[in-house]
Amino acid sequence: MKINPPGSTPSAKGPAEYFTGTVRIDCPFCGSGNLSAATVTFEPGARTAWHTHPLGQTLLVTSGCGLIGRWGGYVEEIRPGDTVWIEPDEKHWHGASPDCAMTHIAICEMKDGKAVDWMEHVSDEQYHGTK
Ligand code: MN
Repeated sequence: MKINPPGSTPSAKGPAEYFTGTVRIDCPFCGSGNLSAATVTFEPGARTAWHTHPLGQTLLVTSGCGLIGRWGGYVEEIRPGDTVWIEPDEKHWHGASPDCAMTHIAICEMKDGKAVDWMEHVSDEQYHGTK
């Protein structure tokens, strides 16, 4: 057993290549095998790029107010207490709402060492659900 206090892995900034706006990644953890997980905080308006997960992903919303969008579908609100399951290879994005930050714990299993396939950025029209 090992207790990892906050800050034992320094907070990291979500790279502009994969995120829009200011995103902070804290407390990554990996278990013993193929688990890939972290706490991710999005400032208002910030979001991931479009992406898929080869073995799916679970999001546990812990604070604030967020949005999640699926390819070809609509944008939905996510709130603290929500648990979101994203199917393997389901194209999607997640982030904060325009006026409120959001934090979630993101958990997924890696396939061949890979947790995510990144795609194009989410446009403002897509983010606001108007396209
Ligand atoms: Mn995802």
